[in-house]
Order: sequence, then structure tokens, then C-alpha cells
Amino acid sequence: MSDCLFCKIIAGQIPATIVHQDEWLVVIEDINPQAPLHVLIIPRRHIATLNDLTSEDDALVGSMFRRAAALAKEHGYHERGYRTVFNTNREAGQSVFHIHLHLLAGRLLTWPPG
Ligand code: 5GP
Ligand code: ZN
Repeated sequence: MSDCLFCKIIAGQIPATIVHQDEWLVVIEDINPQAPLHVLIIPRRHIATLNDLTSEDDALVGSMFRRAAALAKEHGYHERGYRTVFNTNREAGQSVFHIHLHLLAGRLLTWPPG
């Protein structure tokens, strides 16, 4: 996916602050953070939206949530609380069409979201 921002970041063609990487995932700091901790958990493989997942991706998605929990714990937010969000398509405000799990923590996160 040569025109995908996150594929370019994963390939090292665009700089980002990487906080974790492994065989399956890359985690970066969001460039426009909405909370004291705001990172994006991104699969290395290009998947445009949640609508494109198959049962073969179940372990991948599970690993994204488990990484979010591990990072929340690492930063001391696991007891206080944190939010994990996937935005999908226009009305949810998805702006980068390569799935990514937002992890937000460090302030009171209101509900319902905007
Ligand atoms: P979405 O709106 O698709 O759910 O989330 C996209 C996120 O990517 C936004 O929170 C936005 O701030 C972040 N973002 C957009 N461009 C860049 C970039 O070039 N670098 C980084 N690190 N984050 C970005
Ligand atoms: Zn991509």
C-alpha cells in the first residue's frame, strides 16, 4: 500500500516516535495527542478498516488489545483506567485507512464520546 501513511511509517519512510514493535505490531505516539498517553497500535499488515477483518485476524486483533493493556500497565494507568478505540469510516472520524487501536489515558475520559 504505497499511498498509506501508516505503511510508510512502518517501512521507516516517514518518521514517528515508536514505543514498541514486534513481528506483528508497531506502536507509535499519536502526532496530535488527545490525552497524556495517546498511542496508536498498528498491525504491520495493511488492513483498511475493521470491515476488512477475517477470522484469520482474530489473533492479531487480540494481540492489539493485549498490547494496549500492557502499555497501560507500563505507564501506570491500568488501575485508574484507559480507553481503547477503533474508528471505522466517515461517521466515526476514521482518517487513516490502515486499522489502528487508539490507547488513551491520563485524564478523565468522558462518556458518551463526541
Ligand atoms: P483516526 O482518525 O483514523 O482514528 O486516527 C488517525 C490518528 O493518526 C489521529 O489521531 C492522528 O492524530 C494520527 N496521525 C495522523 N497523521 C499522523 C502522523 O503522521 N504521525 C503520527 N504519529 N500520527 C498521525
Ligand atoms: Zn497501510
